[in-house]
Amino acid sequence: MPELPEVETIKTILQPIVKGKSIKDIRCFRKKSIVSDPDVFLASLIGETFLDVTRKGKFLVFHLTHDKVVISHLRMEGKYFEGRSSDVPDKHDVLIYDFTDGSSLRFNDVRKFGILMLSNEKDYLLNPPLSLLGPEPWDLDVNTFHKGLQRRKSEPIKEALLDQTLISGLGNIYDDEVLFATKINPKMEANLISLKQAEAIKKESIRILREAIKNGGSTIRSYHPKEGVSGMMQNELLAYGKGNTPCSRCGFPLRKISIGGRGTVYCPICQHIEGKPLIVGVTGPIASGKSSVSTYLESNGYQKIDADAIVSSLYMESDVKNGLSSLFGEEAIKDGNVDRDYLSKVLLDGANKEKLDSFIHPLVYKRIEEEINNSKAKRIVIDVPLLIDSPLEEICDLIIYVEANEKTQIARLVERGKDPKTSLAINSGFPRGKAKKKAGIVIDANYDINHLKKELESYDFLLDK
Ligand SMILES: [Zn+2]
Repeated sequence: MPELPEVETIKTILQPIVKGKSIKDIRCFRKKSIVSDPDVFLASLIGETFLDVTRKGKFLVFHLTHDKVVISHLRMEGKYFEGRSSDVPDKHDVLIYDFTDGSSLRFNDVRKFGILMLSNEKDYLLNPPLSLLGPEPWDLDVNTFHKGLQRRKSEPIKEALLDQTLISGLGNIYDDEVLFATKINPKMEANLISLKQAEAIKKESIRILREAIKNGGSTIRSYHPKEGVSGMMQNELLAYGKGNTPCSRCGFPLRKISIGGRGTVYCPICQHIEGKPLIVGVTGPIASGKSSVSTYLESNGYQKIDADAIVSSLYMESDVKNGLSSLFGEEAIKDGNVDRDYLSKVLLDGANKEKLDSFIHPLVYKRIEEEINNSKAKRIVIDVPLLIDSPLEEICDLIIYVEANEKTQIARLVERGKDPKTSLAINSGFPRGKAKKKAGIVIDANYDINHLKKELESYDFLLDK
């Protein structure tokens, strides 16, 4: 979605194209995109002349003769193209203004979320949608902004900044950039932002948006009405789109998480929340060498929380034992203890494995969250085989994926006295590709422990120095 700098760029490109052009005809292919009365819109603009294009928030505002105003929002994929009236319309054209000089301006919208709306000079700022927009960073009163943040309760600052009634002009890209520049964690609760931090948000928003405007915006996709015109700002971005690449300030892998459904990138070290632990998640398939990695971190000052150990302690609890025997029969409990050999056998049936997972995983996740909340450690490593797509994934500041091939896995399982065939069959569903993609560090654990240690030591940012 184009953000303020992109819309500003488009405005600047459109100004010379439309200024002084008189509308001879309007061809509309999708009346639904006109959110005011479409028939009035089409009838009242013919014969009028474009005087100027301005921008308010992410809205383009076309000013015409007789005080008429057209408000337009590009939303996801809306684009304006200049052309000739004789050009064949594109199938995604929403509307074409044909001008008296034979040229035309097309509003094209593949995703159909863009809007057009007729208003007038007297009213357009006083009515929605423009009346709902908060101040842009350069017009922002910091005290009012700070008070607004304090009213947001526990909403993450990342989400609060996307609310255009509070501050207008920051979308997903520049929100991440501003928080990176101000060293504020995107998960930080908006009401905990200090006045000083609110001032920093204003200052960095102005600097970053001005820089983006100067660079013609970002061309994550092309929004530009003239071919060959493309923004350069994507080369200047330090956080957005850079998940799992080294932080430009400290070298720690930037982390991409989801906040309010929006992809969010931050540096776990530079944007660390004071008083909260740094959480490293170690994951990988069975017998891949996860515990060697988490033990290495533990010996370097991390508190280790081990999901397998939590499962073992849960198996000692009577509620859990009762749950297992009602799921898998009384045979699941032998001499008062969970019969793991019996469980292994029934788990070869995929449906049983799903039953067990949906029973035991929520308990494990809850226990780990409790341990983290009660911890006073500065750094915590959680060793969790099924971390990917679990509720724990989002709380990790770094994911380490430990990879081993089947040959290595079999050798290690035999060493542990396990039947490799059964163990590998039960654990065959591990999402290797997904884990690798989400990991900030991928460890190849097919070699011996010394090799592994050397590899871990090469990531010096893992240690708190
Ligand atoms: Zn950093």
